[in-house]
Amino acid sequence: MTSRGQRQLRQDIITTCQQMNALGINQGTSGNVSVRTDGGFLITPSGMPYDAMKPEQVVEMDLDGGYYGEFLPSSEWRMHFDIYRNRSEAGAVVHTHATFCTALSCLHENIPAFHYMIAVSGGTDIRCADYATFGTQSLSENMLEALEGRTACLLANHGMICFGPNLKKALWLATEVETLARQYWYARQVGAPALLDEAEVQTVLERFKTYGKQTQDLASGDALAVTPPPRRDAPRKVAARKKLAKSKAKSKAKSTGRRRVS
Ligand code: 13P
Ligand code: ZN
Repeated sequence: MTSRGQRQLRQDIITTCQQMNALGINQGTSGNVSVRTDGGFLITPSGMPYDAMKPEQVVEMDLDGGYYGEFLPSSEWRMHFDIYRNRSEAGAVVHTHATFCTALSCLHENIPAFHYMIAVSGGTDIRCADYATFGTQSLSENMLEALEGRTACLLANHGMICFGPNLKKALWLATEVETLARQYWYARQVGAPALLDEAEVQTVLERFKTYGKQTQDLASGDALAVTPPPRRDAPRKVAARKKLAKSKAKSKAKSTGRRRVS
């Protein structure tokens, strides 16, 4: 990676942290963010306010657990390190103390399939990792267990952590998980929410494979999981394109003074 590419990633980490706080899914210097690089990852320094953070203060780490530079990496570097080492699909990690995730994590309960969006993290529920002191290897091991087959989990009496292929997607997932936690919290205030069964969540997981993709984004052989309505304007669109091409040819012929043969 070029040093320019690295500097951009350092800035992207800071922007992600600032957005995390502006979105209301984290507060103060809580939480931490990292992104995978060629030989390791870049991670936020420990305890530094995001508004004052400079790209050069973001810490570089290798995949043997060493760091470079004068700034200490996040106290949670072990969780980030273990995700990169154990989950090859992870390109970025976001850890936050989002209010509703944290409130639920204090109950040591998983978020069950009360809403179909539970499938965003890849499974039928969002697990809560067992409690361990912040910054410890035990916390990281509990997290890895709760993340099995998932891309997000709660951390007991602490918050949440999630990962994605890049920073934008990891931040998006953190926001989705906090939204689910909030909705579940509210539903629980007035009763026991009805839960979707395993088969239904599997159906949703299948639909999620192509959800959000436009037809041009589909790989060949991929079919949309949700059948779209019949398209009405397609023939007219082709006709309009032909008309436009014809009028362009006409004006080109005019400007070059050639007689058009129709
Ligand atoms: P750091 O500032 O060391 O990243 O710690 C914040 C945190 O959330 C600890 O769990
Ligand atoms: Zn934390």
